[in-house]
Amino acid sequence: MTMYRTVRGMRDFLPADLAKRRFVEEKVRECFNLYGYDEVETPILESFDLISAKAGDEIRHRMYSFKDLGGRMVALRPEITPSIARVVANKLRTEVKPLKLGYIANCFRYDNPQMGRYREFWQAGFELFGSSHPVADAEVLAANNALMRRLGFTDFSIKIGHVAILRDVFTEESMTEADQNRLMEFMDKREQTKVFRLLSNLQVSDGCQTTMKELFTLRGTDWKRLLGKGRRILQHKEGALVALDHLEAIIGFARSLGVETEFFLDLGFARGLEYYTGMIFEVYVPGLDIALGGGGRYDRLVELFGGEPIPAVGCAPGIDRIALALEKKGLFPEQLTHVEKVLVIAIQEDLLPTALELASDLRKQGVAAHNEVTGRSLGSALSYADKKNYRYAVIVGSAELEKECVILRDLKAETQREVPITHLFTEIGQS
Ligand code: AMP
Repeated sequence: MTMYRTVRGMRDFLPADLAKRRFVEEKVRECFNLYGYDEVETPILESFDLISAKAGDEIRHRMYSFKDLGGRMVALRPEITPSIARVVANKLRTEVKPLKLGYIANCFRYDNPQMGRYREFWQAGFELFGSSHPVADAEVLAANNALMRRLGFTDFSIKIGHVAILRDVFTEESMTEADQNRLMEFMDKREQTKVFRLLSNLQVSDGCQTTMKELFTLRGTDWKRLLGKGRRILQHKEGALVALDHLEAIIGFARSLGVETEFFLDLGFARGLEYYTGMIFEVYVPGLDIALGGGGRYDRLVELFGGEPIPAVGCAPGIDRIALALEKKGLFPEQLTHVEKVLVIAIQEDLLPTALELASDLRKQGVAAHNEVTGRSLGSALSYADKKNYRYAVIVGSAELEKECVILRDLKAETQREVPITHLFTEIGQS
């Protein structure tokens, strides 16, 4: 007989694993609520063209794509931002702006399975449409920061950069968008040697080479000083200077919004997705060299999908990596799903109807009361209740029933006593 396994890179979420994911999701939903994001859901399957339009080569080549039976080229979504931009371009185009949409959804990428990298993973998302003001960028950072704090992280940092600086430097060299994207892709993967090799092949000016070398040195937590240095290096580049001012304003507003987290400015930082037009960021915790989440500004995606031009900024915290970091740092609460469970056991077969009714009545009052359903002995039923962390066992026996009572056994305290059926709910409810 064949013993089937999950497809490589796919995971089953057993109860304990799922409880961890749900814990993170619950915190995400608290932040949706606190920051005003309305949750939406879009299909797992999208048109290949929509998803690949600005995905970047790395993701484009790692998509699960295929022709459906109707001959359409489709793909399992590798991320959700294009789907949300599609919805805004199309179904929500007349909605009052700014519009804030949230999601929690699974994504698929044919990545090499390893720690923190799976072929099916979950992203949460905060997407804000209709503001180009730096305060919108700051608010997205604040929502992400709030999520990390609520999850219990105290020690994390936000790496921040701005793609318009790089685009400005590259555009001055009359570089095609495709070449710019290739450079950004190398930068995203921190492959500096490849960046400079490509710059040489493209025969950029010596000035451009020097600027890039200098930009790569501008990284650190001393962001005010680094921004000052950046202004000197980029002094004749108007777009880049505006971008630096934006970054300063964004960090300033984020501080006013209560973001005390360390900012790590990196002017040679790029992200693989090609739709970014402004500030970009990633969230890191010490000891884990992979980003827990990332995001940025993408002002032209909605119009690319046929909508009105609408500025947008957003982020996608990665649920799986957050769960991994919580685990590593021992930050998950000890008991993730704490429910006081009650097992109702009939001592004899003929008392089963009474036991079933009793459990049913308790459930009507909101108590997680379950019936013993195998017909096994009281001893085995109690040992099962113990192993499954039941708090109480309600034992229905004929002697007690004659007095309209049952035995209530406290499995934690290992004590038991007779309780009138009419008092059962109050007794359990008072624990
Ligand atoms: P991106 O859409 O590439 O900006 O990724 C945003 C976040 O999604 C990352 O910071 C990760 O937390 C998460 N993520 C991306 N790819 C994977 C993957 N293969 N496995 C697990 N999480 C991922």
